[in-house]
Amino acid sequence: NLVSFSDSHSFWPYRLGREATIFELEKLTYQNILQAIRDNGLEHGFGKNRIIQTIETDPAYGKYHFDGHRSCNIVFSPEETGKHDRICPVCRKQLTLGVAYRVEQLADRPLGFVKKNAIPFKSLIPLQEIIAGVYQTSVGSKTTQENYDKLIQLGGSENNILLSLSGTELAKVVHPKLAEAIIKSRNRQVEIKPGYDGVYGKPIFENADQTKEPQKKEATSIPLKKKQKSLTEF
Ligand SMILES: [Zn+2]
Repeated sequence: NLVSFSDSHSFWPYRLGREATIFELEKLTYQNILQAIRDNGLEHGFGKNRIIQTIETDPAYGKYHFDGHRSCNIVFSPEETGKHDRICPVCRKQLTLGVAYRVEQLADRPLGFVKKNAIPFKSLIPLQEIIAGVYQTSVGSKTTQENYDKLIQLGGSENNILLSLSGTELAKVVHPKLAEAIIKSRNRQVEIKPGYDGVYGKPIFENADQTKEPQKKEATSIPLKKKQKSLTEF
């Protein structure tokens, strides 16, 4: 079976605990966990100790998912890269190839293939990123923190907010647009602009403040991110 666990690239809460494996066990023991991991349900169906679900982060978030050149402003899917012979149409040098390209090279099954008895998975976006996306601000901003605190007070844990609470409950403490975005994330209806050449992937949200121009979004979000990076250098 495929299991999922997150690795900690940094200590920021929105980078921790992003992936998980959910077990159903008769009793929490080493043997039962082992049995659950080995039980693929194919021979006798699933036993009493099994994996019921995994929680994933969309791979498009990664800094090197798609191919491209950051400085040339070129982002390509593996297919587009193939059409361009892996060469950047702006500077004519070789493109920085991403994970998706390599996956395509190694794949022996078509995209979207689901094996028999596959264990279902959920794909989530970190709560701070949803808030920051809806308000067009950074994950470390005061607006993000205030909304985050309100939600945690309501739901107790991030996973409870992301996976269980209803839109009506969420909208009691935060902007309806934010509540809607959380539900959309849960239902995997949020489109993600894939990362490439060292640029993180970004979820695309409807703005809570409709008065802001789309162009303004880009201009404000980039310097904020840069500021945040310098913090880690201290
Ligand atoms: Zn280039």
